[in-house]
Amino acid sequence: MSDRDENDADPRAAQVRYDQARYVENGEYEPLLSEKDQTRVEIGGGDGDDGDDSADGGSPLPDDLTRDSLELPELSEPELARHYTRLSQMIYGIDSGPYPLGSCTMKYNPKFTEDVAALPKAAVHPDRSERSTQGTLELMYRLQDYLGRIGGMDAVTLQPPAGAAGEFVGIRVAAAYHEHNGEGHRDEVIIPESAHGTNFASAALGGYDVVSLPSDDGGRVDLEALEAALSENTAALMLTNPNTLGLFERDIEEIAEMVHDVGGLLYYDGANLNALLGRARPGDMGFDVMHYNVHKTFATPHGGGGPGAGPVGVVDELAPFLPAPRVRENGESESEPGYELFDPEHTIGKVHGYQGNWLVLVKAFAYIARLGDEGLTDASATAVLNANYLASRIEYEVPYEPFHHEFVASAGGQDAADVAKRMLDYGVHPPTTKWPEIVPEALMTEPTEVEGKGTLDRLAAAFNAVAGEDDETLADAPERTTARRIDQTSAARSPRLSWQALGSDEE
Ligand SMILES: *Cc1c(COP(=O)(O)O)cnc(C)c1O
Repeated sequence: MSDRDENDADPRAAQVRYDQARYVENGEYEPLLSEKDQTRVEIGGGDGDDGDDSADGGSPLPDDLTRDSLELPELSEPELARHYTRLSQMIYGIDSGPYPLGSCTMKYNPKFTEDVAALPKAAVHPDRSERSTQGTLELMYRLQDYLGRIGGMDAVTLQPPAGAAGEFVGIRVAAAYHEHNGEGHRDEVIIPESAHGTNFASAALGGYDVVSLPSDDGGRVDLEALEAALSENTAALMLTNPNTLGLFERDIEEIAEMVHDVGGLLYYDGANLNALLGRARPGDMGFDVMHYNVHKTFATPHGGGGPGAGPVGVVDELAPFLPAPRVRENGESESEPGYELFDPEHTIGKVHGYQGNWLVLVKAFAYIARLGDEGLTDASATAVLNANYLASRIEYEVPYEPFHHEFVASAGGQDAADVAKRMLDYGVHPPTTKWPEIVPEALMTEPTEVEGKGTLDRLAAAFNAVAGEDDETLADAPERTTARRIDQTSAARSPRLSWQALGSDEE
């Protein structure tokens, strides 16, 4: 360590390494509750209790589908609590430390949003009448309004359950719009090479041919290549801004004009909205349709794949095609406004049961309402400052600048995946790796606005410690986590879907 920057010797990084090692020390396996205790408590079985429980013949199910006894391990409450606490300590989450996954915007989620979502009144049954769910409808109406104002869009649907689902909806709305205008021949969607994989998938799933667009030397949209790709067959161009390198597309107004001149639509992938909040709006840049990843920008933990929500905003011309139903004021009286569901005139139909992932929307609403204009503007400023501070502290090269809320460093001669595994040994979560591909061995890093300077320094220390290590050490990492290198291919191809006792050789 002696020949490295003093940063690398950050004692906190060492402390975390030590703590993780402790959990491994006792064996790498936390037994299941049923393995911890072999005595069993019998429950049920029609033992003279006169209750009408299902085992006593009260069940409408066939006998062979009911059971009359349930064996449970006998453990005390502290033993139970320790089991779950231990499991929670064997994994890494946003409550364990920083989580700088670029593009994912893995920020800490204020606990008050969970409290709001847990209010009994938040959990209304979706089949209740409009008259008895006015509060629910008002929340949806106001969230549509907030998101519209934040994105510079005229109309919003809350239904899509994720960003990718929002992309698909946006593409279907664009298709319906072209079809309605007698332009159904448009069969191409243009997407920059550096775009997120879901963009290509959504366009293809929406029935379009994908035209892929190379970046210029600076990492932005190549205007000449765009000119060449545009034609009367162009249905839309999908972009995110700042792009996946964190670079702002400075020519966005010219790009919008070029796309609109051939009759195409401009789609905004909202995953990077965290960089723009309160400062710039996709609608003002010329975008016609966008999705919001509310689970990235506006709270809701989404590690592990969900749940999320991907509302879609559009300009007036596209509003009649949005999914049904949406919420509007029914204007009965100004002093006491009422709300109702309605189907847009040429709606593409339903894309999710009821109103989408409702409680995720409640959390997004609570977050936006609590932060307000000023808080949202602060969030984007701090997100950009944090990314730039962190980049200035790490030894890996960052080839494309000036970036905003995230940056893509290159691991250079090291393998980015190995770097990521090794960072786990230093007690921090690694960045997104190997994407976008225009940066060799990419380390796509987004610290988000919620981390303070101390955490950013600790993160930089981890990067720099790994930067100084040899390939052999990296290839062997992680050595201090509960699970080490996992055989991901087998896990995906031949998953074990049923539990078997430890040591049992049954397949
Ligand atoms: C995360 C992401 C998406 C997809 O969003 P999901 O909500 O994960 O479906 C699309 N584009 C970009 C740039 C992203 O980072």
